[in-house]
Amino acid sequence: MTQRMPLIAGNWKMNLSIPEAIALVRALREGLKNTGDREVLVAPPFTTLSAVKEVLEGSSIMLGAQNMHWEDSGAYTGEISGKMLLEAGCTHVILGHSERRLIFHETDSMIDKKVEKACEIGLIPILCIGETLEQREAGKTFEVLREQLDGSLASFVSRASLPRELILAYEPVWAIGTGKTATPEQAQEAHEFIRGWAEEIFGLETAQAVRILYGGSVKPGNISSLMAKKDIDGALVGGASLKYESFLGIIRYES
Ligand code: PEP
Repeated sequence: MTQRMPLIAGNWKMNLSIPEAIALVRALREGLKNTGDREVLVAPPFTTLSAVKEVLEGSSIMLGAQNMHWEDSGAYTGEISGKMLLEAGCTHVILGHSERRLIFHETDSMIDKKVEKACEIGLIPILCIGETLEQREAGKTFEVLREQLDGSLASFVSRASLPRELILAYEPVWAIGTGKTATPEQAQEAHEFIRGWAEEIFGLETAQAVRILYGGSVKPGNISSLMAKKDIDGALVGGASLKYESFLGIIRYES
């Protein structure tokens, strides 16, 4: 069986000033001299990337962005391309976050183009999927996950080939920023479904290699029980990644 390296990723969303960001990553860098058997990533807002990059120079903490456009350049006012993110020092990019889907009306086909471009230029996508409370209560969780996976990865599905480094994140919308975490069993059930979907389309080897993060009100107090589940390979953390103590507490979960 493939050993999957755990990844703890912090999604800062539209938070922290440049001085606040610098103070946070300096403290993380100091507190995490060696991230050891887990990978750590922060995804600050675009305007903070270069300052954070400078502080992280020589550290094993990785840098990601929260969104990108699928074209390299052109008349797309307000957008940032994947190539620009590479230039800013990012190795990863979060794509298809539920806030992008719900507030900014990003569709699966837009997300598919972004994921494909990211992989083409060497940025590792963290593709988010997840159902709303209404969809869960209507018993549609798996249907929604399948639809988002088929649509947001359509280019890869049509070629029956998925880049091994691509990362998936299961983020039930009802658990994001609400303080309501999916139980480890609910999360495991969704992760198992997602891995099963990957096996169906891309084969067992790819399905065993792909990392699936859980996101939704992850805290120091619930991370260990989530990480104990066999298909949970890490966490995408929003609110708790903005404070040194809580993010460090999550990163240092006991396995
Ligand atoms: C997120 O937005 O990706 C997230 C998981 O947020 P929170 O941890 O605050 O629920």
